[in-house]
Amino acid sequence: MAKRFVRAVFPGSFNPITNGHLDVISRGIKLFNELIIAVGNSPVKNQLFTLAERVEMIKPLVAGIEGVTVQSYDCLTVEYAASVGATAILRGLRNLTDVQYEFQLAMTNRAVAGIETVFVMTGEQYGFTSSTLIREVASLGGDVSNLIPQGIYEKLQKRLAEINLKKG
Ligand code: ADP
Repeated sequence: MAKRFVRAVFPGSFNPITNGHLDVISRGIKLFNELIIAVGNSPVKNQLFTLAERVEMIKPLVAGIEGVTVQSYDCLTVEYAASVGATAILRGLRNLTDVQYEFQLAMTNRAVAGIETVFVMTGEQYGFTSSTLIREVASLGGDVSNLIPQGIYEKLQKRLAEINLKKG
């Protein structure tokens, strides 16, 4: 039987993208023919980088991975997935707190749109890596250079310096 073509989306805020996200992407693409990294416009989260900046920051990091592309979206994740013909959502899991939240999200998405969510477990070295904590630690002067790609680290330092300058 011929293998079915599967396109998946990996939605998130990616503010900024971390080594943990990249780990999920490299594991996830093995399961699908195509994977679209879908950068969302989360109004609730503190957006250090604009939507367009986050998309541009991710592009060079995945340029060498066949089948992976990056797009932004500004609607319900399930609506976006349907609009690009994706039949699965990829999400990463770090711990039991993630499981609880993701379980609810996946059940809701399946109930409203019939779409399945596929989970991959993080590489153990990334179990504590989160964009929120990275932003907090970096803004207080902590060294997060081994949790995010080098280019992202430089952009983060630059943005924090700009914010500090504005604050005076
Ligand atoms: P969201 O705002 O939707 O939670 P994030 O950008 O924070 O978006 O995360 C996107 C996805 O990546 C989520 O499924 C999240 O659980 C997963 N993720 C984030 N960091 C890691 C990590 N270090 N290891 C594995 N998965 C992760």
